[in-house]
Amino acid sequence: MQQVVIVGGGTAGWLSACLLAARRPELSITLVEAPDIPTIGVGEGTWPTMRETLATIGIAEAEFIAQCDASFKQGSRFDGWVDGGERDSYLHPFTPPPSGDMAGMLAAWQAEAPLQPFASAMTPQAVACAESLAPRQRAMPDYAGALNYGYHLDAGKFAALLKRHATTRLGVTHMAAQVTAVASDASGNIAHLHLHDGSELAGDFFIDCSGLAAVLIGGHCGVPWVDRSDVSFNDSALALQVPVKPGSPIASQTIGTAHEAGWIWDIALPTRRGIGCVFSSRFMDDARAEEVLRAYVAAKVPGADLSSLRPRKLTFSTGHRERFWQGNCLAVGLSAGFIEPLEASAIVTIELSIKALAENFPRRAETMGLLADRFNELFRYRWDRIVEFLKLHYVLSRRPEPYWLAQRDPATIPARLAECLELWRDQPPSAWDFPRMDELFCAASQQYVLYGMGFAAPAGTFDPATLERLAEVRQRSRALAAALPSNRTYLDALRPVAATDPIAMHGAAVK
Ligand SMILES: Cc1cc2nc3c(=O)[nH]c(=O)nc-3n(C[C@H](O)[C@H](O)[C@H](O)COP(=O)(O)OP(=O)(O)OC[C@H]3O[C@@H](n4cnc5c(N)ncnc54)[C@H](O)[C@@H]3O)c2cc1C
Repeated sequence: MQQVVIVGGGTAGWLSACLLAARRPELSITLVEAPDIPTIGVGEGTWPTMRETLATIGIAEAEFIAQCDASFKQGSRFDGWVDGGERDSYLHPFTPPPSGDMAGMLAAWQAEAPLQPFASAMTPQAVACAESLAPRQRAMPDYAGALNYGYHLDAGKFAALLKRHATTRLGVTHMAAQVTAVASDASGNIAHLHLHDGSELAGDFFIDCSGLAAVLIGGHCGVPWVDRSDVSFNDSALALQVPVKPGSPIASQTIGTAHEAGWIWDIALPTRRGIGCVFSSRFMDDARAEEVLRAYVAAKVPGADLSSLRPRKLTFSTGHRERFWQGNCLAVGLSAGFIEPLEASAIVTIELSIKALAENFPRRAETMGLLADRFNELFRYRWDRIVEFLKLHYVLSRRPEPYWLAQRDPATIPARLAECLELWRDQPPSAWDFPRMDELFCAASQQYVLYGMGFAAPAGTFDPATLERLAEVRQRSRALAAALPSNRTYLDALRPVAATDPIAMHGAAVK
């Protein structure tokens, strides 16, 4: 098994190519992409896993940030999800609460500062987010941080950087051609692809990164789609890119603001904000979604030229494949599945898929079925947990609109989530609930959403050592607030002089 063929040149295709080439240099990898079929072009929030991914594939952090117009992401803030009121806001940061007895920690928090937001009591990252601070200082080694972090980035620039890196530094072969047909061998495995120009491309193992087209896993292998729209209602988005003034603050977290039939994402990059309205077409039409989106931009981006903004419509099916690895074909990215981008779980699933493949790459055709079964079992587990965790954000809401009432209908709540919620009345989420390796949303994530949204913490006792741990969080918050640079200061120092920034240009001319 040596020849790997990847179909598709979006984030999934190029990330897969880079990671697999870096981790399995003995493989010969060819990526074929249709020049006339555009990539989806969104997907701008990553997880902290991206730091290890970039380090593994050999891209320096400053190069990545400068070339992808990237900023730091330290978590997600949810505004308006509980009751839509003025003060309705909570944070799901990337840094976990202090380790130890969470039941005691909750009791101490309730006894000491019940009005303080849970995240502020549990991690100094809340201060860094509130004050738009970077999670690291320039002098630190690449990818190290005082706080845990991922990135916000320009998806188009990211795919372009990965493509350059894969082809010039990692030995990946690139072909610009559309796959028009697929041929199998006698065992049913894919033998070769027919390309638009009449040529054939053979391989031992095929990775389907063809996006929603799912040319191999769906079109050829016919692996059924598992629809999850009964639980996760959102199926549409209107996306905008809003330029920002030089020098304006850069938020440390994705901001997700609830509206009457979905929510709005707001992702700050150094030069623009990516803002999009996610909604359910069952509860909102495009015209109303655009109104909601424009009202948000008018309120949140002072000086934005609304007349020049034209939203791009995206629609998606909510669900995933019944199996992700079939024969000698693995689906990665949108071809494998998609659930709304509420916690940015798509790119991390790409990273985890290729990590699993690289560490379990089939050496012989005979073991491929065994490895495929394991992969399918693990990733079905992961997709189920994603569906449940995203639903958790809705079931604790008290918003009154029909969409939100439907989200809380017990018939739409997965049984395992309902069971966990029952248990969590008596004990906080723990590793007993999420016991697998590389859990996507571990107990800490569940705690941040649960107690951020006002779920009652179980009554409990605590000892003086627990109070000390919370005091340490406060002390560290003060120390980091004094020591960390702002995102803007940190990121502007890495970027070439912005052509649109007259002050910076003047400075450059003087030099
Ligand atoms: C509204 C929205 C917001 C999102 N936000 C986030 C986020 O914040 N964080 C996150 O992690 N994810 C997010 N995602 C998901 C993320 O965008 C995708 O997971 C990611 O971009 C990967 O897409 P892809 O590479 O699988 O598909 P695409 O980008 O669609 O690429 C498909 C590729 O396949 C090629 N292709 C198609 N057919 C053929 C053919 N016949 N022959 C050859 N090539 C072919 C195309 O040319 C293209 O290169 C979001 C998605 C949506 C819809």
